[in-house]
Amino acid sequence: VTVARDPRAPIAVVPVEEIWDRFWSKVRFSEACWLWQAAIRLSDGIGVFGFEGKILYAHRAAFALTRGVIPEGMDVRRTCLNPLCVRPSHLALFLRPVPGAASPLH
Ligand SMILES: [Zn+2]
Repeated sequence: VTVARDPRAPIAVVPVEEIWDRFWSKVRFSEACWLWQAAIRLSDGIGVFGFEGKILYAHRAAFALTRGVIPEGMDVRRTCLNPLCVRPSHLALFLRPVPGAASPLH
């Protein structure tokens, strides 16, 4: 299995129905967060989902599966701050910070 260099790669090219059941079978649902139960990337503790030899962040896959294409340059973040949460209502798009740019908070 080859591993994609960028786990943020888009999955829009893959028909949703091909991976829908497999993706959600790896999730434990609850009243609050929906927790990823499968592979976790050791370097950052974030859930990952593999298909067609690529590895994607699980929360990005959840967002793309339920809400469509993630625009170029955007990140998907968990508003609940739970690193394993893939509940679509807990996910939101943010502009990816440009490396070296000053933080708007400063
Ligand atoms: Zn959550």
